[in-house]
Amino acid sequence: MELWYTEYQTKNLGLAARIKETLYSGKSDFQEVAVVESYEFGRMLVLDGVFQTSIFDEYIYHEMIAHVPLFVHPNPKNVLVIGGGDGGTIREVVKHQSVEVAEMVEIDGLVVEVSKKYLPEISSALNSNHPKLRLKIGDGIKHMKEVTDKYDVIIVDCSDPIGPGEGLFTHEFYTSVYKALKPDGLFVQQTESPFYHQELIRQLTADITSLFPITRLYLSSIPLYPGGLHCFTIGSKQYDPLKADIERIPANLDTRYYNREIQQSCFALPNFVKELVK
Ligand code: SAM
Repeated sequence: MELWYTEYQTKNLGLAARIKETLYSGKSDFQEVAVVESYEFGRMLVLDGVFQTSIFDEYIYHEMIAHVPLFVHPNPKNVLVIGGGDGGTIREVVKHQSVEVAEMVEIDGLVVEVSKKYLPEISSALNSNHPKLRLKIGDGIKHMKEVTDKYDVIIVDCSDPIGPGEGLFTHEFYTSVYKALKPDGLFVQQTESPFYHQELIRQLTADITSLFPITRLYLSSIPLYPGGLHCFTIGSKQYDPLKADIERIPANLDTRYYNREIQQSCFALPNFVKELVK
């Protein structure tokens, strides 16, 4: 009998992946956590029925959410990742020589434990307890309220705006992010699909623009996510992503998707996306 796993991306649309086996299935205080082995995407992390990451295409998302903002800031030393329990974003952050401390605040310890066991390629920096890493299991929203003037770059590697991630897409949260950043700091957040989450993108763009002098959206192709095209939004106090010095990006940076040309071209937007962020 064939096994299929379907993520319902909207009320009327699903992505179905044929599965070899379920490697893990459990429930934390926050969500249902599963790891399945699929034919096309390899091992996948699934939270509350939503595909989070896969061995097949994880490098695209993790490289794009980490390197684009970290090369906009000229000298990021203190970096915070909110969420990102699979460890892929932290794996990319610690590649930056300027980064001295890479904090990570993930609400769900079970996601971290399961990723360490079943997704070692992604969670390598967690597994090795990388010397730059400071891992805290806790609520990113609460953490942000307690911190002032601390970080150069904050990376919000969150799940969808439902369940524990809901409060990460609010004006109140962006106000705390602004406060937690240094005077020249910037942040990035994964901001979903330009096809299926248009109202969300309009709202969060307005919220971020009301606080930060510079707001920029960039795009990347990610097969696992709804519509295959994914948004990231940067709010910056001083540095304009469109003026990043690409000479700082080492030609031999260990990446499979990201490079100097992508750093610039990812900000080129189709007209319908320009409309969304106008
Ligand atoms: N790449 C993924 C995507 O876009 O689908 C995101 C992956 S990562 C697994 C998302 C993580 O955010 C989850 O592990 C979830 O537990 C965590 N998360 C959700 N709400 C959070 C909060 N309030 N504070 C900290 N972490 C949170």
